[in-house]
Amino acid sequence: MFEKELKRIEKLQLDRHIISRSSSPGPVITVKGRKYINFSSNDYLGLAGHPKVIKSAIEAVGKYALGSGASRLLAGGTVLHERLEARVSEFKRTDAALVFNSGYAANTGVIPALARDGAVIFSDELNHASLIDGCRLSRARTVIYRHGDTIQLEKLIKEEGKGEKVIVTDSVFSMDGDIAPLGDLYEICKKYKAVLYIDDAHGTGVLGNGRGALEHFNIRPEPWIIQMGTFSKAIGSFGAFIAGSEDVIRWVLNTARSFVFSTALPPGVIAASITALKLVRTDRVLIKRLWANRERLIAGIRNAGFDTGGSDTPIIPIKTGTISGALGISGFLYGKGIYAPAVRPPAVREPRVRITVSAAHNDSHIDAFLYALKGLD
Ligand SMILES: *Cc1c(COP(=O)(O)O)cnc(C)c1O
Repeated sequence: MFEKELKRIEKLQLDRHIISRSSSPGPVITVKGRKYINFSSNDYLGLAGHPKVIKSAIEAVGKYALGSGASRLLAGGTVLHERLEARVSEFKRTDAALVFNSGYAANTGVIPALARDGAVIFSDELNHASLIDGCRLSRARTVIYRHGDTIQLEKLIKEEGKGEKVIVTDSVFSMDGDIAPLGDLYEICKKYKAVLYIDDAHGTGVLGNGRGALEHFNIRPEPWIIQMGTFSKAIGSFGAFIAGSEDVIRWVLNTARSFVFSTALPPGVIAASITALKLVRTDRVLIKRLWANRERLIAGIRNAGFDTGGSDTPIIPIKTGTISGALGISGFLYGKGIYAPAVRPPAVREPRVRITVSAAHNDSHIDAFLYALKGLD
């Protein structure tokens, strides 16, 4: 089965392989007994391996056991789940929040709950796959606008006339590292009475002192703004949340199928998220170091003459133009003990090496990367 199809993707250099570590996901990973400096992790603050985070997870497993046993609506959740939601809504300056099992589950559950039959969703063409799938699962119609093009978006909204509207966007685009024009999107939503659904997976813990993209833009959360974020990236744990008004959260917990019909996250994971979130709020050095590392790395890559597109964040693409170019650079770096993965269609339209830098890297990790890059030409 699938022999022909597999041959075809192989020939196009589009077949994917799983890489398995035998180490933590830190700045240096071990693969097949060899060490690599790791530029692929979304653990932007290095919290996945933080001793306090790990300790709180172990303690919670001891007290509440490993699995949660049931959905939140059937007592699968603990007081820790509730505490995490209180901390998230405080952090995001909203009335309420709800924990989801993953970012993927949040987007595929919440978008269909918000955008019902007869509504129109406006979706940025470079939105994350989980947002796209959320739109596909919704009974609403989806209109796609050009990446970040709020002029086209407004034109498309005008064409739709009356009726419910939901604008869906990544805050930080996961493959390009650029930031959505949230200021303009906010104005458009206000003017046309649209709901704004923001996927802040790469903004949470990174932008706006860690509070995310809205804080970065100095935008006050409104009842018609729903923020989604993940604990699986800068928070170093697992799972996701949405934050918004009491009514929206109540509606979602009643209707989002990925919430209702899925077992609650294990308490150990929730405890880790609580501790990591606290570290994001209190340890100012982490975010500073992340951004200093990002500046050092991107300046070096640009100086070496590579195209980093519109990156504004610790996600840095090196655009190569071709698939073989991306695989070539990634393979060359791998040979030098650096893991910087190639990303190809259909995950992206333009092939690239996608790099992420974290607060856990030190100068010598970054300089080793830049030195290796020089050896390419
Ligand atoms: C990673 C990611 C998700 C999915 O989150 P998971 O917790 O990994 O399922 C959703 N949206 C964006 C923009 C992401 O980068």
